[in-house]
Amino acid sequence: MNVYDSELVAGLLQKCGYFKTEDIMSADVIFLNTCAIREKAEETVHNRLNNLHYLKKKNPQLLLGVLGCMAQNLKNELLETKPFVDVILGPDSYRRIPEILNDRNGLQNHQVDTKLSKFEIYEDMFPSRHEGVNAWISISRGCDKFCTFCIVPFTRGRERSRSMQGIIQEVEEAVANGFVEITLLGQNVNSYRTGEGKFHVLLEKVAAVSGVKRIRFTSPHPQDMDDDLLKVIAEYENICNYIHLPLQAGSNRILKRMNRTYTQEEFLILVDHIRKFIPDCSISTDIIVGFPGEMDEEFAETLMVMESSAFDSAFMFKYSPRPGTKAAEYSDHIEEEVKQSRLEQVIALQKRLSLQQNQRHIGKILPVLVEKESKKSSMKWAGRTEGNTWVIFDKTNEKPKDIVNVLIQDAQGVSLFGERIMEKELVHEIN
Ligand code: SAH
Ligand code: SF4
Repeated sequence: MNVYDSELVAGLLQKCGYFKTEDIMSADVIFLNTCAIREKAEETVHNRLNNLHYLKKKNPQLLLGVLGCMAQNLKNELLETKPFVDVILGPDSYRRIPEILNDRNGLQNHQVDTKLSKFEIYEDMFPSRHEGVNAWISISRGCDKFCTFCIVPFTRGRERSRSMQGIIQEVEEAVANGFVEITLLGQNVNSYRTGEGKFHVLLEKVAAVSGVKRIRFTSPHPQDMDDDLLKVIAEYENICNYIHLPLQAGSNRILKRMNRTYTQEEFLILVDHIRKFIPDCSISTDIIVGFPGEMDEEFAETLMVMESSAFDSAFMFKYSPRPGTKAAEYSDHIEEEVKQSRLEQVIALQKRLSLQQNQRHIGKILPVLVEKESKKSSMKWAGRTEGNTWVIFDKTNEKPKDIVNVLIQDAQGVSLFGERIMEKELVHEIN
């Protein structure tokens, strides 16, 4: 989401006549686009700002700004402790940038705008994207779910969806600029809805845009998964058979305390249902360990649900208290060593599950989208399966952005290894 927002801001800066520089010493403007989801992300920004303070001392003309969720969340602290920051803009205030840049010579005071909007969806702004295979496209902003651990509803405000027409126009532009994979983004991507329909209707429209080889989306909420969506995923070849399905925790008491709105049993039924609807669908997840009050037996349920869901991959986090959220107020926080030990256990389990899931592909021929040269050898490509797993294989006559058939021969760590199968051989094999 932040990569996309940075691309939006880069687009605005370009319109104002600025261009990107790789040399930080020569920059006239530096914006840090920040994340407040966990404490560590905030620490990183504080450290980075302390470093940038030196640049500002050398060049007082330098305009230094903090954008995004941390600006929203820590405005007062930033103003107090980092007075050398000139501009503080929350995630709904980026339209102010041209005006601030035009006025920069007349700027005396800090420019601060962290108002949240019920309407801002940056409809008519086009991002300036890095070259590559995948284009991120934000389809909705904000979140109304209020999970008790999460800062997003406070920093990004209420949920609102962009028009289908605006999104399709952006998809067409991305394709015209050479992107072949589209990832639709929203904090709750599958609760997207407009007068024209729900998320599955949008997905069908994106799938019909000519030149879109692959479509992904993130992050859906288990509560908003429905059969209409699963049908569309199963039906369209260019929609990846891959679903990110954040579990967070396995125990019903903890899920309730998190305000996740589903039970362990409902989650397990959903996983089963997805795999029946879309055979071979890859599923990844997010896990939080050490949520306030989580007992050993409750943590063991997280391990149990991970094991029975057999996730292909997972993003795993220690619970990080976010001031202002309900969970931060709970009195039964878990000690750091316990959180660390639980994190190590989920990581070890997921490593085993990922390998096990990857091994199921050995002997199969999978479509792989060629992305880049392998880091280990200039003779090999690295590409991804629909399930988002990297595949390494010898180069022949294909090029980046092609989708080719690869016979999977081995699975190691988190990667697959294989050999390109030419169309002719495939016909032979089928015969
Ligand atoms: N909207 C998505 C998640 C967005 S945040 C969803 O509901 O699934 C991405 C992930 O960060 C979350 O899924 C959660 O696992 C993690 N996360 C959010 N707040 C956190 C916190 N306070 N501490 C630790 N992890 C957190
Ligand atoms: Fe945060 Fe996701 Fe819950 Fe929204 S649904 S509050 S973004 S974790």
